[in-house]
Amino acid sequence: MVYETNSPSQTKAIACEIAKTATPSQVYCLSGDLGVGKTEFAKGFALGLNITDDITSPTFTIINEYSGRLPLYHFDVYRIKNVQEMEDTGYEDYFYGRGVCLVEWAELILELIPTDASYIKIEKDYSRGEDFRRITVGVNA
Ligand code: ADP
Ligand code: MG
Repeated sequence: MVYETNSPSQTKAIACEIAKTATPSQVYCLSGDLGVGKTEFAKGFALGLNITDDITSPTFTIINEYSGRLPLYHFDVYRIKNVQEMEDTGYEDYFYGRGVCLVEWAELILELIPTDASYIKIEKDYSRGEDFRRITVGVNA
């Protein structure tokens, strides 16, 4: 499925709809360049799980947890340098737990991602304007 958006709020609305279909232990891999809108997407995704907390980037904490219709584990693995650092986060309890995982920069830890994960790619296309984003949702990396 391919979505096209022209604003952060449209991106959040799309993410919100996707989150409404999320089921326990589902892992969503979010990929795309720095500043493309992964954290904006996460904000809308949280709303779709009935989470009303402010969603902040987990760049320094690696994982932020929120409770909603299902628990949300929001990862940003940009700073993870090796598998051991990922092991240290206890990620398996999250990936295979009863919550929903949303992983920014999942492409950096692909070998650890469950085989049944969902993949979401966000891209810019400057020919379509500064705020344009294409969001591709699929089952493969
Ligand atoms: P990332 O987490 O991918 O590094 P962020 O979500 O933190 O990126 O930042 C995305 C930036 O792009 C924000 O400043 C946001 O306002 C801006 N932006 C502009 N247009 C869009 C859009 N269509 N969707 C999402 N973000 C957008
Ligand atoms: Mg981010």
